[in-house]
Amino acid sequence: MAERVYAIYRIPIKEVSGNAYLVVRGKEAAVVDTGLPGYSDQILKSADSLDAKVSHIILTHYHIDHTGSLKDLKEKTGAKVFIHEKDAPYLSGKEKFPLPSTVPQEVIKLYSTYRHVEPDAILKDDDRVFGFRVIHVPGHTPGSIVLYDGRALFAGDNMNSREGKIEGSPAMFDWDRELAKKSVKKLLDLDFEMLMPGHGEPVLEKASELARNSIRL
Ligand SMILES: [Zn+2]
Repeated sequence: MAERVYAIYRIPIKEVSGNAYLVVRGKEAAVVDTGLPGYSDQILKSADSLDAKVSHIILTHYHIDHTGSLKDLKEKTGAKVFIHEKDAPYLSGKEKFPLPSTVPQEVIKLYSTYRHVEPDAILKDDDRVFGFRVIHVPGHTPGSIVLYDGRALFAGDNMNSREGKIEGSPAMFDWDRELAKKSVKKLLDLDFEMLMPGHGEPVLEKASELARNSIRL
């Protein structure tokens, strides 16, 4: 019988053209971002159908379209929750969300439904988790991270794809726009074949080249 070595699956978060991901190594799975509220069953069913047990939930940042289904998913799986130390206080509810004034009212309203979760593990720059290197890229949020393994980049909202091109982080939602631009610039120095963006279609070939050619900062 064939055994799975490594695979990436995408769960589209339709309302925001967003993405949650399942990274599967053997029979173990990591969820990278959980999507808006209401997606936990879909993520779990996907893992079940792949005969993989969710052991890790890794969050690229605290925003609700990436953490909305976290509490349900944590309760149903008992998986360990990982987030960067700078975003941990917003996830746990110890500090108020540092949302910029450019965020639309209807999005701010959504945050009143936020279900706080105490993380199990705090990530720092250059940590290793589930086979990935953690790179701290502050700006979109204070504790935004990307996951990188030399071939694939899980970019959170620091790189999003749209109509065959790659964009940097969305200005309207950036906590510190100048810092966010600096962080995206830093990511352009990395070589990666595949991009798993926070929003939009994954890019499977020559992704860093496409990023360098399409992102204007
Ligand atoms: Zn975001």
